[in-house]
Amino acid sequence: MPTPVTLIPGDGIGPSIADATVRILDAAGCDIAWDRQVAGMAGVARWNDPIPDATLDSIKQTRVALKGPLETPVGEGFRSINVALRKTFDLYANVRPARTIVPGRFENIDITLVRENTEGLYIGVEHYVRIGDDPRAAAESVAIITRQGSERIVRYAFEYALAHGRKKVTLVHKANILKYSQGLFLDVGRMVAREYEGRILFEERIIDAMAMHLVMRPEQFDVVVTTNLFGDILSDEISGLVGGLGLAPGANIGRNTAIFEAVHGTAPDIAGKNIANPGALILAACMMLEHIGDRDNATRIRDAFESTIREGRVLTRDLGGTAGTDAFTDAVIAKLG
Ligand code: NAD
Repeated sequence: MPTPVTLIPGDGIGPSIADATVRILDAAGCDIAWDRQVAGMAGVARWNDPIPDATLDSIKQTRVALKGPLETPVGEGFRSINVALRKTFDLYANVRPARTIVPGRFENIDITLVRENTEGLYIGVEHYVRIGDDPRAAAESVAIITRQGSERIVRYAFEYALAHGRKKVTLVHKANILKYSQGLFLDVGRMVAREYEGRILFEERIIDAMAMHLVMRPEQFDVVVTTNLFGDILSDEISGLVGGLGLAPGANIGRNTAIFEAVHGTAPDIAGKNIANPGALILAACMMLEHIGDRDNATRIRDAFESTIREGRVLTRDLGGTAGTDAFTDAVIAKLG
């Protein structure tokens, strides 16, 4: 029985990198029944909704989606795509692996960042405080950290480490200053870590020191877990260490549902020119294959992709080559063996 997966090609370069990715998975013989849906501007064009009910219904059925980048329409009345997806499916873990493919400044980076996706400063509880005549004399943003939210994200990081044969989890925090919210996250993290003692190493870093250690000696990190805002910043820093957004996949994971995506946007400057690098979406599709239990094809496709890049003969422009999306995709398929 083929596994049903919702496919949202997306906007801008989305359809072209989604076609490339589907072509590679089909060539590898992956047994997937794609349910093509629209969102973003394509959703507005068809249903006047950037996140149409038909798309949400499809994900409710399949519980797995591969998503290209989406353009959020500017203007009143439209739902925010990411918020709608995160809320509907309670996608609490944002997972961003980063691995050196072509050694540059660093040779051996293999870090997976696990970011809490639903709490912290991003819950949207903000307001201005009027003082005298000034309605915006002060502003207040509230960070909510819960015991339950902290426990499930740290546990997710440890379980990820176990499932992927990783050795260490680093918890990143700022509990020395934010003693309550960050203090709770750290306390809960320590408690969860004790359950994995002897199986997975555990260490703690303060966020500012972590930012420095990442650019000084990133090879020392393995799985990293942190709260929403710190995770947002560190995940881009980490992708910069391994060659930028063209090679950065991501996953948003909930208890029942997972959405895999390229981290980059719709790249309107190069859309429709057949020059986009499909790499991030290909790597996201490999994460998806692992999630649905097809580790063999995930490894085969990742190996073919990485060896195409290491060989350096057929590369897209962002990686210093001249090949188009189609030619690069053909080169990866030729290496599938
Ligand atoms: P972007 O990631 O689209 O582009 C930044 C730069 O990187 C551009 O020069 C672009 O050409 C280049 N680039 C990005 N992906 C590439 C690829 N695969 N191959 C080669 N070059 C690539 O960021 P932006 O310009 O800030 O955003 C454009 C649009 O994308 C906005 O509408 C934004 O809202 C949306 N966006 C969507 C997502 C998402 O759906 N996950 C994420 C970020 C931005």
